Amino acid sequence: MNSAFLAYASEHLRGLPIPQLRKDPIVGRWVIIATDRAKRPLAPKLEAPSPQAKLCPFCAGQEAKTPNEILAYRKGDSEPNKPGWRVRVIPNKFPALQIEGDLNKRGEGIYDRMNGIGAHEVIIECPHHEMSMANLSEENIREVFWVYRDRLVDLKKDRRLVYGMLFKNVGDAAGASLEHSHSQLIVTPIVPVNVKEEMTGAQEFFDYRGRCIFCDMVTQELSTEQRIVLDTPHFLAFAPFASRFPFETWILPKAHGSHFENIHKSEVDDLGTVLKTILMKQEVALDRPAYNYIIHTSPLDSQPLAHYHWHIEIIPRLTRVAGFEWGTGFYINPVPPEQAAGFLRATEVDLAQKK
Ligand SMILES: [Zn+2]
Ligand SMILES: [Zn+2]
Ligand SMILES: [Zn+2]
Repeated sequence: MNSAFLAYASEHLRGLPIPQLRKDPIVGRWVIIATDRAKRPLAPKLEAPSPQAKLCPFCAGQEAKTPNEILAYRKGDSEPNKPGWRVRVIPNKFPALQIEGDLNKRGEGIYDRMNGIGAHEVIIECPHHEMSMANLSEENIREVFWVYRDRLVDLKKDRRLVYGMLFKNVGDAAGASLEHSHSQLIVTPIVPVNVKEEMTGAQEFFDYRGRCIFCDMVTQELSTEQRIVLDTPHFLAFAPFASRFPFETWILPKAHGSHFENIHKSEVDDLGTVLKTILMKQEVALDRPAYNYIIHTSPLDSQPLAHYHWHIEIIPRLTRVAGFEWGTGFYINPVPPEQAAGFLRATEVDLAQKK
């Protein structure tokens, strides 16, 4: 965050008692107004990973610096909020949404608002100070996916909550404020507009053709091969035909499934390898870029859907979204996805290699 803005925020911003959701009455997009977020610390940019890493609240031994854990995979005899964990989930200290309270949906003339009820959690992916998920072992990455699944299954029980968005920000340009490898989960009481757009488009295709468009995409990409980055027994990673960003990469399960939380063990086993491979390729080919990944899945309160298919989208932050994109929703991508895929496919990585 801009330091002039932070100075302004600390002096002038009066906190709202709780976060608020407000709906744009024209396009139906919801905005979260969460004043506490402005108080987040700036990323300790110049901090080298070594001696100062002791100050990192996500490292094992620093558990007292974080809120109490919600879930941790840990050694059988180790105590909560003490070392001995492998993957640990904590509430975000500066949440965009809060879990207590009711939605209190209300209208004000043409405007709609509700309380910002939801969850904002941080998944700390490893106990040691590792900045890159690509350096984690495949088994470690699998456990991260199991943790994602466990959290969605748990939050699903709360009827106020409708959508769970799992995502990762790496690097300044991608919005990360701490370097220790972590991801986040924000659970909202409404379906986010980007997901709704995908679901509506997929539903229209299904109504017309009677098939899932994502399943068709897997079939077509496998037959043309030119956009494939990695093909494994359970997943296909490829650069989408209409990639918005250079080196945008999607990971789709080959078997149809609408909800990430219903993932099978054989798929998680494979996915640990797939994600590590893609992240390593990206690091080598693009020199450790800032990036985001997101998991698009179905709303928590929906039954299995024939038309929607969960997937992971990985977006390296190599270009900036500027005026034209903001103004139009068009993206200008300087790298044809066929070339991006070819380059990543040809980039060799050794999964067994130590960092
Ligand atoms: Zn750390
Ligand atoms: Zn499908
Ligand atoms: Zn998507």
